[in-house]
Amino acid sequence: MMRRLRGPTGVLVLTLSLTSLVALVAWRMALERDRLRFENAVQAAGDRLSARLDIYVAMLRGAQGLFAASDGVTREEFASFVARLDLPGTYPGIQGIGFTERFLPHQQEALEARMRAQGVEAFRAWPEDDRQVRHAILFLEPLDRRNRAALGFDMSTEPTRREAMERARDSGRPAMSGRVTLVQEIEGPTQPGFLVYVPVYSGRGVPHSVQERREKLQGFVYAPFRAVDLFDRLFGSEESPRVAVAIFDGAPSADTLLFDERPDRGVHAPAFTTLQTLEVAGRSLSLVVESQRPLEAVGHVTQPAAVLGMGLVLSLVFYAASRGRMRERELAEQERRRAVTLSRLALAFNSELDEDRLVQRLTDEGTSLTGAAFGAYFHNLPDETGRYGLYALSGAPREAFEKMPPVRTTPIFAHTFHDKGTLRLDDVTRSPLFGKNPPYNGLPGGHLPVKSYLATTVKGRNGRVLGGLFFGHPEPGEFLPEHEPLVEGLAAQAAVALDNARLYREAQAAIALRDEFLSVASHELKTPLTPLTLRLEQLAGRAEAQAQLPGPEVSQLVLVIRRQVQRLSRLVTDLLDVSRITSGKLRVEREQVDLREVVREAVARVEPVIERTGGKISVQAPDPVVGQWDPARLEQVVVNLLDNALKYGDGKPVAVTVRADGGQAHLTVVDEGIGIPEDRVGRVFERFERAVSERNYGGLGLGLFIVREIVVAHGGEVTVDSLPGRGSRFEVTLPLLPLL
Ligand code: ADP
Repeated sequence: MMRRLRGPTGVLVLTLSLTSLVALVAWRMALERDRLRFENAVQAAGDRLSARLDIYVAMLRGAQGLFAASDGVTREEFASFVARLDLPGTYPGIQGIGFTERFLPHQQEALEARMRAQGVEAFRAWPEDDRQVRHAILFLEPLDRRNRAALGFDMSTEPTRREAMERARDSGRPAMSGRVTLVQEIEGPTQPGFLVYVPVYSGRGVPHSVQERREKLQGFVYAPFRAVDLFDRLFGSEESPRVAVAIFDGAPSADTLLFDERPDRGVHAPAFTTLQTLEVAGRSLSLVVESQRPLEAVGHVTQPAAVLGMGLVLSLVFYAASRGRMRERELAEQERRRAVTLSRLALAFNSELDEDRLVQRLTDEGTSLTGAAFGAYFHNLPDETGRYGLYALSGAPREAFEKMPPVRTTPIFAHTFHDKGTLRLDDVTRSPLFGKNPPYNGLPGGHLPVKSYLATTVKGRNGRVLGGLFFGHPEPGEFLPEHEPLVEGLAAQAAVALDNARLYREAQAAIALRDEFLSVASHELKTPLTPLTLRLEQLAGRAEAQAQLPGPEVSQLVLVIRRQVQRLSRLVTDLLDVSRITSGKLRVEREQVDLREVVREAVARVEPVIERTGGKISVQAPDPVVGQWDPARLEQVVVNLLDNALKYGDGKPVAVTVRADGGQAHLTVVDEGIGIPEDRVGRVFERFERAVSERNYGGLGLGLFIVREIVVAHGGEVTVDSLPGRGSRFEVTLPLLPLL
C-alpha cells in the first residue's frame, strides 16, 4: 500500500490532503474572521447609534440650559437658539426642538394669551381636558407646516408620551418615549417616531427629591424624531452595507419596530445575526444586526473556495510536474539500463565466435529483457518452399515449435524478413497482416499461444538481412514502446557479432582447407623426391666409375641436378613441417645432445651453400653444451639460421657462438648482411612473412616460422636484433633440461 503511494500518485494524494486540510483551516479561519468582522460591524452600528442619540440628547441638554439661564424664554430667543444649531445640517432626522410647558387649569388663558402675544395666531392648548396638570407645546422650531400643527398639543394626554414625560420629570434626566406616531405626520407616508424629553425645573439645577421635581417642573425641552429619517441617515448611507440593522423600541416585534433595513427574508439568509440592547435616555432599544453578503462573500465563500481551487490547481500542477519529472527520470534510467545491457551484451556477443551460442544468447537476452513468454530467431534462409528454419528458441521447449508447421513467408514474417521495420502488436490476431487464409487462419494448430507480438530484423553489413528475432506473449499488450529500441539495439549488436562470427567461421574454413592442401601436397611431393634423390646419387657414382662417358661434364650436370633436388627436398620438408606444426603434429624426440655437435652437422649441411656464395662461417664453441633435445629438429633450426645468414649475409662472414649459462644453452648466429627493415623485424617469425622482395631472394617465408616452433617446442625462445644494412643477430635460448 505504502509502496503504491510513492511517486506522482503519492504526491497527488499528499497535496490533495494538504489542500483539503488547508482549505478546512482557511474555511474555519475565514468563518472566524467573518464572525469577528461581523462583531466589529455590530459594535460599530451600536456605537454609531448611541453616539448619534447622545449628541441629540446633549443638544437637548443645551436647550435645557437656555431655560435654566433665564426666567422666561421667548419664542424668538428659542427660535434663534434653534436656528444657530442648524438642525437639518447638523442633526439629520430630527423633526425639530420644542418646549412644552406645564400649566394648571387656571393658567390656561394667560398662557394662550402670552403665546398669541408672541405672534402665534390662534394659539390654544389642546385637547381640552379637565385634568389638574396639563401641558402645551409652546415652541417648536423650525416652525414649518408640520411643526405648526403640533403647537398647543398636550402630549401627556397620550400614554406613551406621558410615560416618558413622567420618567423625565421624576428622574431629572432625559427620557426617550416609546414608539409613537408624531402629530406632525399630517401628510405623506407615515413613519414611526419617538420623542426625547429633558425636564426643565424652576430654580437652579435638578431638585433632589421626586416630590420636589414634580412640584418644580416647568416643562420639557423635547425633540420629536421621525425614526426612518433618523436611522436611514445613520445606517442607510453605505453603498454595500456589510450588515443590515433593525431597531425596535424594546423587545423586537411588529409593534415595536422603529426602523428596518434588512432585506427580504428568503432572498438572503444571513450567516450571522445578533441582538443588541442599547440604553438610550432611559429606554431600551433593540438593535437586530444581520450580516450581509459583502461581509460574508469575502471570507466565507470566496476565500476557502479560492484556497481549495488554488490548492487543487497546485496539486494537479505538482502532480503533473512530478509525473513529468518521474517520467523523465524513468526514461533516463531506462536509457541507462538499456545502454548498460547493450554494451554488456555487445561484449558478450563479440567474444562469442560460435554462431549457435551467439544466436541462443541473443534470443535468451531478448526474451528476458522484453518479458516475453518466448522468443525465437530464424535465419533468413528460406528453403525452396519458402520456409524458414528455426535457429534458436527461448522460453519454450523446442518441441513446442517443432510440432507446428515451419515458418513460411506469410505477410507477417515477410514484414520482418523484408526489413520493413520493427513490428510491435498488442494483439497479433487483430492485425491485418495476420493470416486469414485456410487452413490455419493465422495460427496453425499447435502453435504457441501468441497475442502480444514483437519482431525485428537482424541486419548485417551492407544491410543484408541475416534473420528475424521474434518475441511472443499469450496476453495482449505485453510489449511496450520502449521494448522496440531495446530489441533493435540487441539485433544491431547481434548482427555485428554474427557477421564477425560468420567471417571468422569462413576464414577458419579457408585456413583449414589450405592446411589440408599443404599437408596433402607436401606428402605427395615428398613421395617421388626420395627415390629421385637416391637414383641421382646412383647415377653420379656410376658416371664417375665408367670413365667412357665424358666424366667432367656429366659429374658437373649431376652436381647441379643434385643441388636442385636437395633444395626442392628442403622446401617440401619445410612445407610438410609447417602443416605438421599447424595441425599440432610436430613431435620432439629428446635425447642427450651436445649443441656443438649439432652446429658442426649443420655447418657441414650448408657446405654447398658456402661454396656457392663464397661465404665463411666461423664457430666459437669452446665448451660442450649438453642438453635433452631432439638433435634432428635442432639441426633444422641451425641450418635454417645459417641458410638465412648466408643468403642475406651479403657474402660477409657469419659468426656462430655456442655457450651454456645458468641452465640454459645460448646459440647466436650473427651476420653483417642486409639486415631487416625496422617495420618488418617483429614479423619475420610468422608464416609466409618475408622482408625481402621475391625477385632478389627466393623463399617461402617458412624457415624462421619453423625455427621458432621447434625452439618453443623445446621450451626455449628465439629473438632477433637487426639494423638494416648492418646485419642481423639471431639468438636461440634453450633450457638444458626439459621444463616440467
Ligand atoms: P625465407 O628466407 O624463405 O624468405 P624465412 O622464414 O627464413 O623465410 O625468413 C623470413 C624473412 O626474414 C626473410 O624473407 C628475410 O626477409 C628475413 N630474414 C631472415 N633471416 C635474415 C637475415 N639473416 N638477414 C636479413 N633478413 C633475414
